[in-house]
Amino acid sequence: MSHYGPTEDSEQSPTYTHRAKIVVVGDAAVGKTSLIVRYVKGVFNPGYIITLGVNFFTQDVSIQDKTLRYIIWDTAGQERFGPVRKKYYLGARAAVLVFDLTNLQSFENVDFWIKEVEGICGEIPMILVGNKADLKPVVKQDAIQDFTSRHNLTYIETSAKTGMNSIRPFFLLAPLVIEELESTTDGR
Ligand code: GDP
Ligand code: MG
Repeated sequence: MSHYGPTEDSEQSPTYTHRAKIVVVGDAAVGKTSLIVRYVKGVFNPGYIITLGVNFFTQDVSIQDKTLRYIIWDTAGQERFGPVRKKYYLGARAAVLVFDLTNLQSFENVDFWIKEVEGICGEIPMILVGNKADLKPVVKQDAIQDFTSRHNLTYIETSAKTGMNSIRPFFLLAPLVIEELESTTDGR
């Protein structure tokens, strides 16, 4: 189990006002782990990062007087094993749906990932991310536009390699997550 970011000290009052689990989902090799590591640590590791076991990361986002602590869960290379996946979704307050702009199949599978998240989490805020924007795209812009308007999703193109837009999906989801948290009684 790996844990990045500040550790919690129960003796001190927390530095955040809200806390939420967020999941990053999509086909294997689309760059989920790379995007998380880029967002949390600001680096890119060009090798294939084999994620086994439970991996989670923490990152704080501040909006005005509020600070949301994301507990970011990585699907840990278990994209293929249905039953094992469930625990990754349980309790998630938002989802980042990632596909690879150079891999058409990964885009076509986004529908599957949405159903998977909704099946376990219900309707939580989601955002669509086309990653590897530094490479020549294969997925057509009009297909993406059609998909996002049908599903009412915000769409962001990212590159974990260059760092382009790597903060944006998490940043844009934050106010929606805070709003959801505040509308439920369990606070943070
Ligand atoms: P995951 O299986 O979805 O977690 O994907 P990884 O983060 O392990 O990335 C899979 C492969 O894609 C690795 O070789 C990464 O270096 C590469 N990769 C990830 N993001 C990008 C990107 O934005 N641009 C490019 N060119 N390669 C990327
Ligand atoms: Mg991974």
